Amino acid sequence: MLRVPDLEHKLDTLMSLAADDRDGPPPRLRHARHVGALGPLNIRHLRTRGPGHARLLRILMTNACSYNCTYCPMRRDRNMPRTLLKPAELVRIFLGALQRGWVDGLFVTTGIPSNPVRVMDDLIAALELLRERHRFAGYIHVKLVAGAEPAQIERLTALASRVSLNLETPCGQTLTQIAPDKSLPVALENLERVRSLVTLERTARAHGRPPDPLHPGGAAGMTMQFVVGATPDTDRALIDMVARLQGGGGIHHTHFSAFRPITDTPMENTPPAPALREHRLYQADYLLHDYGFAAEEIVYEPGGNLPLGVDPKAAWALAHPERFPVEVMRAAYEDLVRVPGIGPVAARRLVAQRAALTLRGLADLRGLGVVTTRAGGFLTLRGRRLQTTRWTEQLGFWAPEDTAGMHHLTYAVSPGTFR
Ligand code: SF4
Repeated sequence: MLRVPDLEHKLDTLMSLAADDRDGPPPRLRHARHVGALGPLNIRHLRTRGPGHARLLRILMTNACSYNCTYCPMRRDRNMPRTLLKPAELVRIFLGALQRGWVDGLFVTTGIPSNPVRVMDDLIAALELLRERHRFAGYIHVKLVAGAEPAQIERLTALASRVSLNLETPCGQTLTQIAPDKSLPVALENLERVRSLVTLERTARAHGRPPDPLHPGGAAGMTMQFVVGATPDTDRALIDMVARLQGGGGIHHTHFSAFRPITDTPMENTPPAPALREHRLYQADYLLHDYGFAAEEIVYEPGGNLPLGVDPKAAWALAHPERFPVEVMRAAYEDLVRVPGIGPVAARRLVAQRAALTLRGLADLRGLGVVTTRAGGFLTLRGRRLQTTRWTEQLGFWAPEDTAGMHHLTYAVSPGTFR
């Protein structure tokens, strides 16, 4: 295994790249030398709820791994240059980027060079240096390595703003097929530990205990990640599991990563999962999260996957003609928000303002944020249909077979690395 021999030089290179970039952080960090896009350095813009965004320096502490997951570019048996940053080196790079104003926060993830307990010690050491010695009180997102000891989970969560965990599949059996060294029950047990700590932290704050910026206790909420399409697991299985886990609280959101075949891995010749499938899963997750849908209401194709040709909300609407049309002037928020083309913001505006406004037709609804090309066919305004044909019936959209005949691509990098 190689250590980074030229940390100063690497930092100099990064600084010169940043100087060239007038738009902020250097996008070419992803092409860090020697190890290409799997290099330890990268930057991501994190959208925040308030104005603007936070810039996270994403650091892969090491791309060395003793595990042999069949889908992963960093798997043990794959021949590639390996790099390892010691905790102090990682901290030095981050503080260098922070002092130069390139980034506001950190996202640290890692391979597992020996075993989960040892790599967790390194992660904790890095976070302790940042929090306790350098008094960094900003955002830190850290990947928990499943199999850590309870005391390590407690310490890591105490120091982190957000903890994430890769679950990979919703089924222990299929996980073993693609990640023989991983265990879903162990990962879930770890998730529950973090969840209870996050809940404790949030409860204490809700009862008036002021937040400690150096020990945020994971209060930003966990994230979890699934690889989609590397196993036969259906979208229904994924969404049901996500709904169950998110229902327990403490989880901020879920990442879905469409499987991509990686060169020189056992899955090199497995077809990639359509990017649209990943997108549909996110849309279905939003329905659970933001639109008040229950997991049982999501509409699937007979095989258990979400339809690719139409988004999950429209699929639900088309499967429930008895719920439409919805009357703009009288409908409850809960009914309006289920109309394709009406999101939570537009539904709230409609309910709050419709009595005071003179709504005459689609143009007025558009002014309130309704996507009328989608919503028109599902609505009436004072009993009058606004559009006779529903957009979903007019448009072909993408069909699953659209990928048929496409050139089979393989990739050198997995998109799930930093999720
Ligand atoms: S998915 Fe994670 S544990 Fe598995 S080989 Fe890749 S880096 Fe290692």
